Amino acid sequence: MSDLSQTITRFDLWHLELPVTSRRDHGIGSVEGSCEVVILRLTAEDGSQGFGEASPWSVFTGTPEATFAALNRYIRPLVLGARVADRAAIMAKTANAVAHCTEAKAALESALLDLTGRISGLPVWALMGGKCRDTIPLSCSIANPDFQQDIALLERLKDDGVQIVKLKTGFKDHAFDIMRLEHLAHHYPKFSVRVDYNQGLSIEDAPAQVRDVAQFEPDFIEQPVRAHHFAMMARLRNQIDIPLLADESVFGPEDMVRAAREGICDGVSVKIMKSGGLSRAQTMARIAAAHGLSAYGGDMFEAGLAHLAGTHMIAATPEITLGCEFYQASYFLKQDILEDPFPVQNGQVIVPDTPGLGGRPDRDRLNHYAVVKAVAA
Ligand SMILES: [Mg+2]
Repeated sequence: MSDLSQTITRFDLWHLELPVTSRRDHGIGSVEGSCEVVILRLTAEDGSQGFGEASPWSVFTGTPEATFAALNRYIRPLVLGARVADRAAIMAKTANAVAHCTEAKAALESALLDLTGRISGLPVWALMGGKCRDTIPLSCSIANPDFQQDIALLERLKDDGVQIVKLKTGFKDHAFDIMRLEHLAHHYPKFSVRVDYNQGLSIEDAPAQVRDVAQFEPDFIEQPVRAHHFAMMARLRNQIDIPLLADESVFGPEDMVRAAREGICDGVSVKIMKSGGLSRAQTMARIAAAHGLSAYGGDMFEAGLAHLAGTHMIAATPEITLGCEFYQASYFLKQDILEDPFPVQNGQVIVPDTPGLGGRPDRDRLNHYAVVKAVAA
């Protein structure tokens, strides 16, 4: 049987702890040692398999434990026995069965799309509306509290042809941010520079510090204040000529409607881990575009499987015009989980043309890095 009317017969999970090469500080917290992801594998009657990744971060979207439980306890019974063809129905049931847990829903939709693509011979972008681009400009984040280590990374990025960097600010002090912006301007003038505070500024400090940083004319300044400070976001947006991006303030389409209505941003960071899947991420980008706002392909601390899902979503979403930040598989993890390296060439992510997500996790690495598993014998 090779059609989409077959049912899903297996639902397997791995909670992985993936060692990382360096420390990264963000305005809301730090990552050091390892990052944690949950991998879902769906199997259909004919043995076809589809994979999806959830990439939670406790200070931002949620915890790996909650993600694992959402999938293992609440989502599993909605999926086992369902037809592969009924992806929309499965996602709708999931939305009603589990509140939040957007990373779990992203993993589920990724795995359903991968499975559908593998069975039908189509890449995921073809299932999402077709392709609008073959490559996506890659941005790498500069977030090490030891700037000397980031200077070594900048040299490597330059050699690799990466042309965009995102400076993570607001985790130490304003002088450190200005020093690094000056260093980038003097020593790396060819890089396009973006700035991301990850909510790191207080409402008292934000107006003056954001004004200073805007003088460096970055492409955009992202989320200077806490997610719920919509009024301060709107005030900062009006205060500077540089585009202000919302990230943590806008998880899904519903937040996007409110953000547009309240005028809090010029653009939005779209992430499948925030929106709860690829379809809702596309919807978010389209709502933004309909309001004259730009969209950026953001990500979480992800492995290559989640990068692939994001890549297919952006490949099928012309409204996302500001590139992507799928750098972790190549520049942050000690070892990625994909069998073949996540495709980056000359500073561009290459959109795969092979069926499904166009890549899958290495079985040995899933077992090697697993701290918890729910895998049928
Ligand atoms: Mg951000």
